[in-house]
Amino acid sequence: MARHVTDFNGILLFRRDYAERDYLVKFLTQEFGKKMFLVRGAKKRGFKMTADILPFTVGRYVGDIADEGLSYIRTARETRQFQAIGTDIFKNAYATYIMSLVDTAFPDSQQLPDWYHRVYRALELIDEGLNPAIVTNIVEIQLMPAFGVAPQLQGCAICGRTDLPFDYSESYGGLLCQQHWAADPRRLHLSQRTIYYLRQFSVIDLDRIHTIQVKPTTEHALRQLMDEIYASQIGVHPKSKRFLDQMQTWAPKLMADPTDDD
Ligand SMILES: [Zn+2]
Repeated sequence: MARHVTDFNGILLFRRDYAERDYLVKFLTQEFGKKMFLVRGAKKRGFKMTADILPFTVGRYVGDIADEGLSYIRTARETRQFQAIGTDIFKNAYATYIMSLVDTAFPDSQQLPDWYHRVYRALELIDEGLNPAIVTNIVEIQLMPAFGVAPQLQGCAICGRTDLPFDYSESYGGLLCQQHWAADPRRLHLSQRTIYYLRQFSVIDLDRIHTIQVKPTTEHALRQLMDEIYASQIGVHPKSKRFLDQMQTWAPKLMADPTDDD
């Protein structure tokens, strides 16, 4: 089994207990795709890299990279944490979901330099305070092809027209123009605003986003649309998504003014 010692850039996807003193840490690396690392002695007091393998850390490390199986981290060169994500339970939940989706979408060791950059940017935007629900929608839409679902969003899936109102059809795998709405009695009846964002988000460059304002009703419709496509066409529902769903149900209570008696 080939191994070599080299520098790499990594986004920590998750870490989990391994042995009594060790952690398994999964990184999305810029150079080698996703890799699982065994970090020996990481739970011992005085361990030097404690801060470098916290959740929501990105940085530059030196590792012993294996083509297959476990790799090892030798040292951390320069790391930083997404502070706001680390301390805000909502940002935390969205960021965790994004990382679990990316982990599910690709096999380990497949080179993903483009996705390394996109995940980095998505985390940066959430950390900076952009609406994490919207950043998550963008990642969900752009990940669909990796899950084998590439919706036709350029024009009508039947005739290609782009000048009429659209709706979304799961059976046709994309947009239908108004003339072809009858072709799918189970079309999703989306608003034109929701369709607009769906199309925009599928091609938007995360590097070019600095602000996004989406009405709450549209945000809700996009969430439902993503849930529908992920449930019925992709069949992926990570544990982190279940937590996010639960959070939505208690979020209004948490955010209510505590002085407000009702
Ligand atoms: Zn058509």
